[in-house]
Amino acid sequence: MKRTKIIDLFRPEMIGQEVSVMGWVRTRRGNKHVQFVALNDGSTIKNIQIVLDMSKFSDEELRPVTTGSSIHVTGRLVESMGKGQTCEVQADTLEVFGTADVETYPLQKKGHTLEFLREKAHLRPRTNTFGAVLRVRSTLAFAIHKFFNERGFFYLNTPLITASDCEGAGAMFQVTTLDLNNLPHTEDGAVDFSADFFGKPTALTVSGQLEGELGATALGAIYTFGPTFRAENSNTPRHLSEFWMVEPEVAFNDIYDNMDLAEDFIKYCINYALENCRDDIDFLAQMYDKELVDRLKFVVENEFVRLPYTEGVKILEESGKKFEFPVYWGADLQSEHERFLVEEHFKKPVILTDYPKDIKAFYMKLNDDGRTVRAMDVLFPHIGEIIGGSEREADYDKLLGRIEELNIPMKDMWWYLDTRRYGTVPHSGFGLGFERLVLFVTGMTNIRDVIPFPRTPGNAEF
Ligand code: ATP
Ligand code: MN
Repeated sequence: MKRTKIIDLFRPEMIGQEVSVMGWVRTRRGNKHVQFVALNDGSTIKNIQIVLDMSKFSDEELRPVTTGSSIHVTGRLVESMGKGQTCEVQADTLEVFGTADVETYPLQKKGHTLEFLREKAHLRPRTNTFGAVLRVRSTLAFAIHKFFNERGFFYLNTPLITASDCEGAGAMFQVTTLDLNNLPHTEDGAVDFSADFFGKPTALTVSGQLEGELGATALGAIYTFGPTFRAENSNTPRHLSEFWMVEPEVAFNDIYDNMDLAEDFIKYCINYALENCRDDIDFLAQMYDKELVDRLKFVVENEFVRLPYTEGVKILEESGKKFEFPVYWGADLQSEHERFLVEEHFKKPVILTDYPKDIKAFYMKLNDDGRTVRAMDVLFPHIGEIIGGSEREADYDKLLGRIEELNIPMKDMWWYLDTRRYGTVPHSGFGLGFERLVLFVTGMTNIRDVIPFPRTPGNAEF
């Protein structure tokens, strides 16, 4: 008999059928006449109840069926009398694939803390919480591809290993095949990278944007969706050393088009999750965050506020609120400032634009005032910055001016400057931190809990 996934058992037409079910035991309870097993196979948050009539099975057969063990059951799917479930399987046969020692299985008990589960990252996907989070994550990833595909964007794969160290987005992880215990040196004593694998220093990418611009100025509209790496020592609930970033880049879009795209994009993804992961989201809401569904709907249904940085700083200064970090024109806003604007002042997502050029990257288009750039950060409740983007400087001379002002080594940038030298066009794009979106949609509070295998300073165990 072919196996049926548990999610499909709940379809009404399945009632009365003989089924074959496989999964991991969540709990077993009962008495000497009848035993009940709650079985989960990861296809849905819902468990299927397996009913074992003990006139057909021996105690011996049931002994290895403990929390965490894996089993195969065949039997008839019938409507359930028990409350909380619609159907159950009345078992005819039982096969145990693998046992899980009651003494050592780490998830034996329910109700472990998220901190405890982080130490057991190799097994935590088997819990309700992480099952839900990982299904939502997967659904959001699909929504991202679907959104861009429906709008005629091309998926561009940008390199993970890069030789340019000028994105300015953060400290980089070096990539080398040199023997660290026996480094080759040049005559002046520096490490001789010409002997390295690529013949020059290389590192893991912090962003696919610069290469994304090459794609956009050829294909018109592209997006990247891949891992990025930042070697910053930032131990916060919103930073990972390895995270996934989505970076659309569109030729002929100005900053207003860019804001529209960002807003449509986020709303589409959240809506898609609400429509396709409702069981998981409801579970997470019930467990961790009662306001989750309302918050998600609120974001989808309301327009984001659009506000220049200068106005934002004014609001913060006049708020009378004591912040840990001072606010003044020119300051890089901290998460506490972003969250004040979003959660307390506007009570809506905010797109903050036109930041001082000194706190933003060299490639952003300079405004006519000469001191601000066409940047746009999307700020979200509970999260702070979820998207950072801009209209790019399309003018060759102005861009070169910025590169020189900031002493960015030209030898690294020649290929990027070619986009402005040959057929330059206005264009815009942004980067969405995928895990921050997953954080928002799941209502989790620590970014380590929304990626299967978190990498943070000092932590790369699993
Ligand atoms: P932040 O100020 O929050 O550190 P950033 O301004 O350095 O972020 P960008 O370079 O603008 O980040 O990257 C684009 C997006 O990638 C951010 O808006 C955020 O959603 C996400 N992001 C950036 N750094 C991280 C990180 N270390 N871990 C997870 N997501 C990140
Ligand atoms: Mn940013």
